[in-house]
Formats: sequence, structure tokens, C-alpha cells
Amino acid sequence: MKPRLLVSCDFDGTVTREDTLVHILDRYGDPRWRAVQDLVVSGVMPIREGLTKEMGSVRASPEELTELLSSKIKIDPTFPGFLERMRERGIPVILLSGGFDLCVETVMVKSGVWPIPFLANRLHRSNGSWEVEFPYPSALCEACGHCKGDPIRAWKEQGYVTVFAGNGVTDRCGALAADLTFAKDELVRWGGGRGLPAVSYETFDDIEEELSKRGWI
Ligand SMILES: [Mg+2]
Ligand SMILES: [Zn+2]
Repeated sequence: MKPRLLVSCDFDGTVTREDTLVHILDRYGDPRWRAVQDLVVSGVMPIREGLTKEMGSVRASPEELTELLSSKIKIDPTFPGFLERMRERGIPVILLSGGFDLCVETVMVKSGVWPIPFLANRLHRSNGSWEVEFPYPSALCEACGHCKGDPIRAWKEQGYVTVFAGNGVTDRCGALAADLTFAKDELVRWGGGRGLPAVSYETFDDIEEELSKRGWI
């Protein structure tokens, strides 16, 4: 009998080829944003504080942001087919973004992969600047803006075998919580140092192949 699977995946750099926040900050943010990001990746600055500082420096209208995201951000071409085949099998696929609702929605609508369930931080306009709201506080984790460990543990409690794919600093708690983690980029380097049992991947075809090899789909 196949396990009752639930697939969750990071958004930026996992479903998308490039990071939406990097594009926004390079184009409209304070040029010193990479120094802030270095502090976040090295664990000196909490993720919430880093995101709030980075987005607070962005001077762009909502229209400018959606135009930038629509024109620059492409998704992994293997994702739509993967999603379709998982849906045919009745396996839920949910996006867990450490970024922002506006970015997920804009890119997925533009890519024709909409609607899709997702959890993300929220962006608000306030007096001409961008404020970040963190709607998913965690009782267990102070480090994350939106801790991906919490929803994954909740799905496990509901009886799902959880698969998670990620690539970056906001994926660490999700990677530790999931039954099976797929990792690339910074997440591989971080996980390698901690003995995290993750499977390396590049595309969603790799993920599907591994799930099939395990007899899970
Ligand atoms: Mg990412
Ligand atoms: Zn966390």
C-alpha cells in the first residue's frame, strides 16, 4: 500500500528559478541589502528582522513590483507537469514560502499555475513603504519569519507522510521536520554540516523519480 503523501515545497528558487526578493531588492531596494542577508544566513540577524529591513528599503509601487515579477521570474518548467500528475494521484501539493503572498500570487498567475494552495508572509503598503506581516507565529521557533516546520508537523499529525523540497535559509526547519526532504543550493551546504538526510535534486522530475523509486507513487 502506498503512503498517504503530502508534498510541500518552498517557492523562491525551488518552484521559481530565481528568487523574487533578490530581484526586488536589486532593482528597488537599498544597495546594502546583501550585507543584511549575510547576517541572516549566518544566523546573526533573525529572519523576520532581515525581511522587514530589506523590504522596508524598497521604493516601488505595487504596479512596479508586479510588473517586475511578471516579466523577470520564470518557474521551473518541470513544476506544472509534476503538479498535474500529483493532483491526478490525489496527492496535495502546497507551497510554503518564506517570502511574500504578493510574489507567489503574481508569479503563479502569470505562469498559469493558479489557483494553488500556499502559506506565505504578507506584504502591506503603508504610507508609501512596504511593511511585512508574519501571520504564522510559531510556538516552537523564534528564528523563522514563517516557520515551515509547524505546518509539516501538523500534516504529520493528520497522518500524512510529508515530502518537502527547498533550497535556502528559510527551509531549514521544514527540512528537519519532513519525512523526506529534497535539498539544493544553500540548504545542501547547511544540511551537509548537520548530517541532514536529504536527497539532492535539481528539478521536479528528480523528485518524482525518487518518489517512484521508493514506491511512494
Ligand atoms: Mg527558496
Ligand atoms: Zn523555524
